[in-house]
Amino acid sequence: MQNVDILILGAGPAGLSTALHLARDFPHLTTRVLILDKARHPRPKLCAGGLVRDAETILARLGLDVTEVPHVDASAAHFDFEGSGLSIRNRKSHTLRVIRRNEFDAWLAGKVRERGMEIREEVTVKDVTPDDDGVTVVTDQGEFRAQVVVGADGSKGVTRRCVLPREPVHTARVLEVITPTQPSPIFSENGGGQGRGREGAYFDFSCVPSGIEGYTWDFPTQIQGQPMRCWGIYDANLHPEWDKSALKETLAEEMSRHGFDLGDYELQGHPIRWYAPWTSISVPRVLLAGDAAGADPLFGEGISMALGYGAVASAEIGESFQRGDFSFRRYPRRVARSGLGQTLLVRWVVARVVYKFKWRWFQILLWHFLKPVVAGTAWLLVLNWAGRLPNRR
Ligand SMILES: Cc1cc2nc3c(=O)[nH]c(=O)nc-3n(C[C@H](O)[C@H](O)[C@H](O)COP(=O)(O)OP(=O)(O)OC[C@H]3O[C@@H](n4cnc5c(N)ncnc54)[C@H](O)[C@@H]3O)c2cc1C
Repeated sequence: MQNVDILILGAGPAGLSTALHLARDFPHLTTRVLILDKARHPRPKLCAGGLVRDAETILARLGLDVTEVPHVDASAAHFDFEGSGLSIRNRKSHTLRVIRRNEFDAWLAGKVRERGMEIREEVTVKDVTPDDDGVTVVTDQGEFRAQVVVGADGSKGVTRRCVLPREPVHTARVLEVITPTQPSPIFSENGGGQGRGREGAYFDFSCVPSGIEGYTWDFPTQIQGQPMRCWGIYDANLHPEWDKSALKETLAEEMSRHGFDLGDYELQGHPIRWYAPWTSISVPRVLLAGDAAGADPLFGEGISMALGYGAVASAEIGESFQRGDFSFRRYPRRVARSGLGQTLLVRWVVARVVYKFKWRWFQILLWHFLKPVVAGTAWLLVLNWAGRLPNRR
């Protein structure tokens, strides 16, 4: 059995951000941190890789420059319903930065190692059991005993299942596919539609009236320097009991409108666990971060959220060592009061309105006629939250 003070389970953005914030804000704890992951970086992670400004703000506050990672910048983000809608463009620079997660997470892991923290890879966590004096973590490489554990093991992670087995689980359904930038000429000649402009990121809500509580997306990306596009469909699945169109067919129809045949490409799926205000995210000695705690239900955006959870979790852990109190009773309130918790709450409310009223006329009103209201709400309440995270600098 190996003893450690702070054991972080999962070396994705949530676990790595927790470690990086600990190193920045509580450097005396750095040597007391160990991170475990079942994979080895660079590891594949199904994700469109869209980084919003808030992610970059958190990274910049950690002294990190994300442009070191291969990326593609989308000049505009388009929110469409049936062919037109709201376009957001940052006139001074990019609107959305798109990375590949194998490269981004490996880069972040490198920064953690540079700060002197160990990431032990290819160690799969099987069981997590907290008690009054610590936490026992069983892995396929032996047992660990920790003072505190951070469950940052993602949407399908074991930590939540072990420590909060009776909590309700809310998961979105998500499918993704990578294609070349241009549609196949043969498909287009046979009646398929035309490709879109290469520079934009598209979110299309035309599928909402068919019961899908989400959107299809189409982002520019790159793989090993080659320009590509990443397509996908997100269904928050707030009402699993609804009769809804099949995800795959809906994505296939949308891609076909733009000249792509889904059948030509490999389709992959992965759930996203989303945040609900009443969900428990800690028990004594264990706290959850990132998808394990809950991502954004509105868009399924989770990278900036995971980085944000890291800031809040680190503040909670640092203070718990100062006080010698590992109950983590204050952690849910600390998350809820931070910029992260505020945006998650707003997005949860907005998702329940935008996706509940699935009538076509309502979606047309929203995306075609209420554009200034939607843009203003997004700017004030949905984005720009990272500046309200704990920052001891
Ligand atoms: C198809 C798709 C597209 C998406 N697109 C976007 C997007 O464009 N923008 C965005 O912001 N978000 C997007 N997301 C959401 C985003 O990917 C997640 O919210 C984000 O990865 C959460 O980070 P995390 O660190 O909490 O979890 P993860 O990134 O899942 O990391 C968890 C880590 O834990 C490890 N792990 C899991 N189980 C164990 C175990 N038993 N033992 C040891 N290690 C374990 C894993 O190997 C992994 O490294 C998308 C998600 C999907 C599915």
